[in-house]
Amino acid sequence: MAKNKKNSIFLNYFKPSLYVENVSKINIASLKSSGIKLIICDLDNTLISLSERMPSKEALEFIKSVKLSEIEFVLFSNNIRSRVENFAKKAEVEHYFWDCKKPLISKMTYIHKKFNLNKDEIIMIGDQVITDILFANRSYIKSILVTPLKRSAEGNKITNWVENIILKNLEQKNILHEGFYTEGELGEKYEIL
Ligand SMILES: [Mg+2]
Repeated sequence: MAKNKKNSIFLNYFKPSLYVENVSKINIASLKSSGIKLIICDLDNTLISLSERMPSKEALEFIKSVKLSEIEFVLFSNNIRSRVENFAKKAEVEHYFWDCKKPLISKMTYIHKKFNLNKDEIIMIGDQVITDILFANRSYIKSILVTPLKRSAEGNKITNWVENIILKNLEQKNILHEGFYTEGELGEKYEIL
């Protein structure tokens, strides 16, 4: 019993504030009215798949609508400089970070220095619970999980393996069910650690 409880507390670190199918489903107006001023966004499998280099129409539209809402946008990727920079230039993203080493939170220092916002004004969007969502919860910011654009053998095999184990555990504990999305509104009650 005690072990079970401990297990779910541990699993809460991988729990997003919201879970949507893809970035196009994110209700930006709702984020804005909830006081979000900055979106930190993952690149690979969140905005484009690993096999793509150019921003997709959907990715461009999403970034454009964030800008129109006057919410700051930061690209925040664990990938290498050339890939992140290429996307940022093509998508006209001014602020971008590569080699972020999520779930490590050291690069948050730059974000806080640059934007000087409260933690509840920042939200992370990403497709992986063990990098993006864990990063968000360790940084005490809100988060949105999206389904990876392409789930395949691409990418780091160990990371994918651990990700799948955590997702399975989240399902078993009724914390998160793959494909069962919380669409639209940004909920009022957050269980953010
Ligand atoms: Mg990703």
